[in-house]
Amino acid sequence: MTDVLTDPEYAERALLHNIHPSEWVNPRPAARYNLVVLGGGYGGILTALEAARAGAKVALIERDRLGGVCLNSGCISSKALIRTSRLYAEMRDAAKYGATRPEGIRVDFGTAMERMRRVRARASRRRSAEELSAHGIHVFFGEGTFSDPHTLIVGGETLRFRRALIATGARPAIPRIPGLAEAGYLTNENVFDLSECPKELLVIGGGPFGCELGQAFSRLGCQVTIAQDEPLFLSREERDAAQILSDALARDGIDIHLNTQTTGVRTSGGRKIVDLQTDDLQTTIAVDQILVSTGRSPNVRGLNLEAARVAYDDVSGIRIDDFLQTSNRHIYAIGDVCLEHKFAHIEGASAHIVTQNALFCGRRRLSKVTVPWCTFTDPEIAHVGMYVTEAREKGIPVKTIVVPMHEVDRAIADGEEEGFVKIHIREGTDRILGATVVARHAGEMISDLSLAITAGIGLRELARVSHPYPTQAAAIKMAASTFARSLRSGFRTWCAANWLRW
Ligand SMILES: Cc1cc2nc3c(=O)[nH]c(=O)nc-3n(C[C@H](O)[C@H](O)[C@H](O)COP(=O)(O)OP(=O)(O)OC[C@H]3O[C@@H](n4cnc5c(N)ncnc54)[C@H](O)[C@@H]3O)c2cc1C
Repeated sequence: MTDVLTDPEYAERALLHNIHPSEWVNPRPAARYNLVVLGGGYGGILTALEAARAGAKVALIERDRLGGVCLNSGCISSKALIRTSRLYAEMRDAAKYGATRPEGIRVDFGTAMERMRRVRARASRRRSAEELSAHGIHVFFGEGTFSDPHTLIVGGETLRFRRALIATGARPAIPRIPGLAEAGYLTNENVFDLSECPKELLVIGGGPFGCELGQAFSRLGCQVTIAQDEPLFLSREERDAAQILSDALARDGIDIHLNTQTTGVRTSGGRKIVDLQTDDLQTTIAVDQILVSTGRSPNVRGLNLEAARVAYDDVSGIRIDDFLQTSNRHIYAIGDVCLEHKFAHIEGASAHIVTQNALFCGRRRLSKVTVPWCTFTDPEIAHVGMYVTEAREKGIPVKTIVVPMHEVDRAIADGEEEGFVKIHIREGTDRILGATVVARHAGEMISDLSLAITAGIGLRELARVSHPYPTQAAAIKMAASTFARSLRSGFRTWCAANWLRW
C-alpha cells in the first residue's frame, strides 16, 4: 500500500496537498470577518482554529506553506533528524551497554532525510488547508498586505476585519561576513533539502539550533566545526549547563571554537575557506558547507504596517503590550514576529490570549504564562522560570537545590548520568522561582516543574508526589525531599528522637 510512511515521492505530494494544494481556489471573501489572521504558521493556525471553534468568522492568509517554520524547516524536521542521529550514536556506543557494536555501520544520510520528509508529511495533516476549511476558516493563499487599519488585501481581494492578528514569523538573520554571500551558505530554510551529507560543515552560531543540528550532523558522519562568538554555547543558559553541553559536543568529535568571530569566507577548488578569529589567534579552515544559525529577524517588511498604524522596528519586530495588542488596538501580534523567546509552544498560550482579548473583551496577559523551553541536544538542556542572575537583579533572595543525575538510579541504569536537576526557590519559602534540568530527557522532565510553577505548587508539596521507580524524573522528587528534610527544625528532630526511644 502506498502511503506517506513508505513512499518518499508520495510523502512530498501529500505534504504539498495538505499545506499548499496546487488546485486551491481562494474563497469569496465574507463582507467582514471577526478575525483575519496574517500568516499560517503554528501561531496563526492555532489562533484561527481557536477563534473558529469559539464561533468567530475567521480568514487566514498564507503566502507559502501552511505550518510555517515549525512544520517545514524547524521543530519537526530537526527533531526527526535528531532521532536518527541518536540511533547512530547509540550503535556507535553499543559496547558501553554490553552489546556488540554492529559491523561496518554506514550512515545512509539520504534515507535519513527521506524519513524526515515522511515525518513532516504525516505531521502536516493536522495543519492542512482542508482541515482548516472544515472548521469554517476561509483560507487564502497569497501575499497579504494591509491597506488601512481595518482592511487586508490578498490576491486582489479585500478582507475587512473587526480584529486582525499578525503572525508572519521570522527568517534567518544573516551576519555581515565578507565573502559569505558569494561563497553560499545553508540556513534552516534549505538545510533540510540536502540529500548528501557534507563531509565538513562549519556551523556559525552556538545557540539552540546550531548546537542541535551541529550534533546531529556530526553523529551522521560529518566533521563539524562550531564557531560561537560567546565564551559558552546557549548564552542564555546557566554556565554549568552550557559547559556540560560543550563537553558532550566535544566528545562527539565536534571541533569547538568559542569566543570566535568568523571574519571572512572565500572559495577555492570548490571548497569554502573560512577565517576564524579567536582573541589574538587567527585560524583558517576549509569546509564543504556553512550553516548559519545566528538568530532570526522578524518578518515585518512588505506588510504595509504604516497603513495599519502598527508600530514596529526591524530588529525586535512588531511592538506589542502584555495583552498582545499592537499600537492599533484592533490588531494583535503573536509568535516570532514580535516575541523575544521564539518557540512554537508559546503559540498555544498566545492563541488563547488573543482569542479571549480580541474577541471576548478579555484582559489576559502574556506575562502570566509560564514558558519552559528545551534545547534538544544530547543531553537536553531545559529551563523554566527565573535564572539566579535574574532573581538577584530583582533583589529576590535565592536558595538552590541540586541533584546530580549520577545519583539517580534510572540514570545510572541507562548509562545517562550526565547532568543535573537544579531548582531555585525564594529563600525562606518553598516557592519555586525557576529550574534548569540537564539530562537525556530534560524536555520531558521540565514539565513537572513548569506545572508546579503554573499551579503555585511549592517544593515541599513536590516532595509528596510519587514517581514510578526507577525513572529519571525522580530526580525532581529527590531535590524536593532534600529541601523538605532541610526544613526539619532541630527541635522536631530532638522530639522525634525522644519519642522513638520506646
Ligand atoms: C531549526 C529550528 C528548530 C526549531 N525547533 C523548535 C523546537 O524544537 N521547539 C520550539 O518550541 N520551537 C522551535 N523552533 C522555533 C519555532 O519553529 C518558531 O518559534 C515557530 O514556528 C514560530 O511560529 P510563527 O507562527 O510565529 O511563525 P512561522 O512559523 O514563521 O509562520 C509565519 C508564516 O507567515 C507567513 N507569512 C509571512 N508573511 C506573510 C504575508 N505577508 N502574507 C501571508 N503570509 C505571510 C509565512 O510564510 C509563514 O508560513 C525552531 C526553529 C528553527 C528555525
